[in-house]
Amino acid sequence: KHIWDAEHGSSNIRVCVRKRPMLKVERHRHDFDIISAPGGSGALVVHEPRTKVDLTKAVESHEFCFDAFFTEFDGNEAIHEATLAPLLKHVLTGRSATVFAFGQTGSGKTCTMAGHGNHAAQDGNAIGLYELASRRIISEAKSLGLAVQISFYEVYRGKVLDLLRGRARLEVLEDGCGHVTVVGLHKVLVDSAEAMLRLVKQAEDLRAVGCTSANETSSRSHAILEVALVEASSSLPAGKLTLVDLAGSERAADSTSKDRQTRAEGAEINKSLLCLKECIRALDTGDAHTPFRGSKLTQVLRESFIGDAKTVMIATIAPGSSAAENTLNTLRYAQRVR
Ligand code: ADP
Ligand code: MG
Repeated sequence: KHIWDAEHGSSNIRVCVRKRPMLKVERHRHDFDIISAPGGSGALVVHEPRTKVDLTKAVESHEFCFDAFFTEFDGNEAIHEATLAPLLKHVLTGRSATVFAFGQTGSGKTCTMAGHGNHAAQDGNAIGLYELASRRIISEAKSLGLAVQISFYEVYRGKVLDLLRGRARLEVLEDGCGHVTVVGLHKVLVDSAEAMLRLVKQAEDLRAVGCTSANETSSRSHAILEVALVEASSSLPAGKLTLVDLAGSERAADSTSKDRQTRAEGAEINKSLLCLKECIRALDTGDAHTPFRGSKLTQVLRESFIGDAKTVMIATIAPGSSAAENTLNTLRYAQRVR
C-alpha cells in the first residue's frame, strides 16, 4: 500500500501528514494529544481547545483528509516505503522527484529526513529518508552504470550557502532558456551510501552550529540535499531526487516582529513558502507560468516543478494542545498544495 498507486489518481503531487509522539517535556507540562485518526488511511481530526482555561471541555473539531496520515507509531522506514520507494524507478529513468518536510519547528522535519542520528534509537527513526532513499538509489544506479553526485546546501534569507563547503555563499544564475545554475555548488561523486552519509553528517553538524533554542538557524533556513544521477561517460543528467528540510513554518509569522532581523527573515520565509505552494500546484494545473522566480528557494528548485517531476509533501505536526494553532496552520497550508 503506497501513496502513488492508481486509486490516488494521476496527480504528480502527494500530500501526507506525519504526527510525532508526545515528548516527555510536553507531558510534564500537561500538554495533551489533540490529534485523532477516525479511520480511513488519510483522515485525521484536530480537536482544537477553544479556551485556555478549560482545555478539556470546549473543543472544536477540524477534519482533514490527505493521501496518507502517519501516526506516532509509523517509523521512517514505513514512511519511506509509502512515499519515496515507489518513485525509485521514476528517478532511475531520468526524471525528478522531490520530497519536502514542512511544519513548525519541533514537529519532526529533521527526524523524518535525517533520523535521530543515533543508531541505538529503537523507535524506527534511527535513520531517516536521506539514508533510506539514497541507499536504494546508489545501489541501483551502480548496477545501471550511472554515477551519483551529492550536493547539500541551504537557502537562508534569500542566500544560497554550500553546506559541503563550510557555508560558502553561492550565486544563482539563470540563462536565456530558463536553466538555473547554482554557480560553484560543490557536487561530490559518491560510490556508496556510507560515503554519502559522511557528507550529510558533516553538513548537518554545520547546520547545528550556534543553535540555541532562541536563535536556531536551522529553523530559519531551508536545507536541500540533491542526489543526482549522471551518465558515467558523459556526465549528462540522468535523474534526480531532492530532499528538502524546510524552515520552520511558524517563522513565516515573524514577518510582523519588532526586531528588524527577525522580521526580514520571517518575510523571506513567508514569501518562499507561499511561492512553494504555487509552484507545486503548477505541476498539476499545467500552468505555463510557474512562478519559480518568486523566491530563491523555488528558483533553485525549478526542475522540481516542471515536466513530469513528482512531489511529495510531508507535513509534520506536533500532537499537543499547545501547538494547536501552528498545527492547524500547517494542515491548512498542506491542504492548499493540491
Ligand atoms: P524539526 O526539525 O521539525 O524542528 P525535529 O525533527 O528536530 O523537529 O524534532 C523535534 C523533537 O521531536 C526531537 O527531539 C525529535 O527527536 C523528536 N521527534 C520528532 N519526530 C519524532 C518521531 N516521529 N518519533 C520520535 N521522536 C520524534
Ligand atoms: Mg529541524
